[in-house]
Amino acid sequence: AVQTETHGFQTEVKQLLNLMAHSLYSNKEVFLRELVSNAADAADKLRFKALSQGDLYENDGDLRVRLILDQDKKTLTISDNGIGMSREEIIDHLGTIAKSGTKAFFGQLSGDQAKDSQLIGQFGVGFYSAFIVADKVTVLSRAAGQPADQGVQWESDGDGSFTVTDINKPSRGTDVILHLRDSEQEFLDDWRLRSIIGKYSDHISVAVEMWKDGEPEQTDEEGKVTAAATEGEWEQVNKATALWTRSKNDISDEEYQEFYKHISHDWQDALDWSHNKVEGNQEYTSLLYVPAKAPFDLYNREQSHGLKLYVQRVFIMDDAEQFMPTYLRFVKGVLDTNDLPLNVSREILQDNKVTAQLRKACSKRVLSLLEKMAKNEPEKYQGFWTEFGNVLKEGPAEDYSNREQIAGLLRFASSNNDSDAQTVSLADYIERMPEGQDKIYYITADSFAAANHSPHLEIFRKKGIEVLLMWERVDEWLMSHLNEFDGKQFVSVTKGELDLGELDDEETKKAQEEAKEALAPLLERVKTALGDEVKEVRLTHRLTSTPSCVVAGEHDMSTQMIKLMRSAGQ
Ligand code: ADP
Ligand code: MG
Repeated sequence: AVQTETHGFQTEVKQLLNLMAHSLYSNKEVFLRELVSNAADAADKLRFKALSQGDLYENDGDLRVRLILDQDKKTLTISDNGIGMSREEIIDHLGTIAKSGTKAFFGQLSGDQAKDSQLIGQFGVGFYSAFIVADKVTVLSRAAGQPADQGVQWESDGDGSFTVTDINKPSRGTDVILHLRDSEQEFLDDWRLRSIIGKYSDHISVAVEMWKDGEPEQTDEEGKVTAAATEGEWEQVNKATALWTRSKNDISDEEYQEFYKHISHDWQDALDWSHNKVEGNQEYTSLLYVPAKAPFDLYNREQSHGLKLYVQRVFIMDDAEQFMPTYLRFVKGVLDTNDLPLNVSREILQDNKVTAQLRKACSKRVLSLLEKMAKNEPEKYQGFWTEFGNVLKEGPAEDYSNREQIAGLLRFASSNNDSDAQTVSLADYIERMPEGQDKIYYITADSFAAANHSPHLEIFRKKGIEVLLMWERVDEWLMSHLNEFDGKQFVSVTKGELDLGELDDEETKKAQEEAKEALAPLLERVKTALGDEVKEVRLTHRLTSTPSCVVAGEHDMSTQMIKLMRSAGQ
């Protein structure tokens, strides 16, 4: 019996559909990228599953996507013979949003259309983008390995609910049928479609086909042939070579950017990328991208991240996080290796020598890419720093062997600038150090203002010594893992006795000795008055206009760290 059920969309889907209708108009052709991208993913998933279950191909191993136009019905169909979906899967996948970052995304919407459409682009609307151009969408699907009577039809006009019905579907895979809005009939134009496909789909590894000349065979919803093909044949309209397998010199920036959008679901261009083919001891190709914008859930521990893993060009898994350290979790990309077996699983990856080597190699690629950017395109690098700087600061703790290189990529605000802009590198700082200075001075505080106006800086300002200003939550953690850079030790200006070494001249030193003797009785009295509240009361020369201040002992936790631990509930 044909069983039809009506389901409501998850609230977030309804919101998304609503938003889309209003804000994505200028970008409407992306629906084709999203749907072809899903079809290509479905082909990848089938290839992977068929590695261990060859009969899933059902004697049809030529995976392809077809675009079919029907001028009478005014429909555009995207048809694939990939993995397909069962009834449960279709309800689940096309009724909810399972993406991480969903909550953060909806939290950030402002109601301002221009801003929100920017955000939606970054979030990615996937399948639901079909409703930008269609007022009704019908999906027919049958999962690989299932009998024909296990087909399912999903249908919705995008206003809050969808229906699912059991159908008979002899052909494996999924057809997405778009009933185009009256205003979107341009997508019935064969030539227009070919040009969009050329733009979006050359790099995906599955063939996209369109009928050349005349009309292809027509079938009804159950796959029965209703009209024979007139003339002509299926023609492949994309290159269908996985982009990373091609030679760098043959790939244009546009192609790199399109590929980025395919794998990242981002609608904006990537900031930069690094494409490398390695042969010899290790054999792999990596194509790693740095996005222009941080995702909504950069700080969410469950955030999905990692690379798309291929073994000998066969797709194995998304989000293989083992190949990127956590402090580089913003990197998107593909890793294709010959050094792992085709039946590799997440468990095998966990504890594997090859994995560790590849992670090391990929980390190095990203760090060199960033180094190059910082050197040759400092403004671009500054943009990167604004988005991801705080994540990179986790690096020295996580990746001890690369800490010097990571430190070179850090940017700080400085007491020289009177601005919270984090633009000063450690190399800049060292280059500006006056004669006799051999340490890198810094201060951590709760806010830029607190750092910039700290009484601890008075003596440094007076002597014209630059101090790096830090106030981000992660800074204390960072500095506890950085001891030196370029042979120069880091010194917190709030900790312990301040020895400015060579920077103090003889005369000052003498005056200080005298003051110390003269003021000893005063210090005694203050110490007695404060009792156990303090460890010691000391004469200081670091203040010039503030009479006194509290400092942490040299080996004690700084006040910042204490606050950090308290807020973490310790
Ligand atoms: P995403 O591709 O980011 O997962 P989409 O909204 O594009 O998000 O698709 C949601 C899910 O629906 C996919 O993850 C997939 O499981 C399923 N899906 C969509 N299109 C197809 C298809 N052509 N074949 C098989 N599954 C599909
Ligand atoms: Mg998708």
